[in-house]
Amino acid sequence: MTSRPRFPYRERRHAAPVPGAPALEVRDLVVAHPSAAGPAIDGVSLVVPSGRRVALVGPNGAGKSTLLKAIAGLLPVRSGSICIAGLGVGACHHRVAYLPQLADIDWRFPIDVRRLVMTGRYVHLGWLRRPAAEDRQIVADAIDRLGLSPLTDRRIDELSGGQKQRVLIARALVQDADILLLDEPFTGVDARTRVTVAEAIDALAGAGKTVVAATHETARLAEEFDGVVYLDDGRVVPAPQGAFAGARFATEQRIRHSNAKAISWTG
Ligand code: ADP
Ligand code: MG
Repeated sequence: MTSRPRFPYRERRHAAPVPGAPALEVRDLVVAHPSAAGPAIDGVSLVVPSGRRVALVGPNGAGKSTLLKAIAGLLPVRSGSICIAGLGVGACHHRVAYLPQLADIDWRFPIDVRRLVMTGRYVHLGWLRRPAAEDRQIVADAIDRLGLSPLTDRRIDELSGGQKQRVLIARALVQDADILLLDEPFTGVDARTRVTVAEAIDALAGAGKTVVAATHETARLAEEFDGVVYLDDGRVVPAPQGAFAGARFATEQRIRHSNAKAISWTG
């Protein structure tokens, strides 16, 4: 009698989230780029409860992208820690969706919109399973939601900046992650895409997802985010006067400095 071979990767097992743990907890984090002399993130601590939308603001080179990449597990941690739902970064990568900056992607790659969005499902497929009808439906729904249906078969190098950004958002959505790390989701987009992306972020938070987004756009911070973290030179610092272009956060929405390094959310 022959026994069927067992493929352990078919049913992927992931560690369960720790009950009551915040969506994201970063402690005394130090991250350096391999080719750089000093650290780009130098002692950052922050706690984000689940279901909140947090903006990362700060000048160019402040470390916003580096912080998001480290949380996404794309850069090694030199010291300190990152916990997602109480687990280490590697333990739950499918729960974390990362949207890179537009400029970080090679858009000449010969792939169409549908297939690029489908790559967001790969964390659920594993090595052996091909996309099923359910995956294709999830992808079609996200493409439709971002207003990309007419472009489904279009090659990604033929898209405008706003369309590219919406494709990346769609890919992040189909992953069905608990925490979304968005690097400059509003950069290079037209006004309509801006509204579509803001609505998508809003809907995610409404569904209990946590969103951390680096952004240069400060005009609508108070409407589009629950709070804001200001980074400069690799550290969390109090925002300089006028940094948020007049956006006023209610007291319960403000970041509370509990000590020089650790900040956390109030409310
Ligand atoms: P931000 O996203 O806030 O503009 P970054 O995280 O991109 O800032 O950059 C933080 C610091 O890390 C900057 O000093 C930048 O020059 C440096 N840096 C970013 N990427 C790299 C890299 N791949 N190699 C070396 N240094 C880098
Ligand atoms: Mg950046």
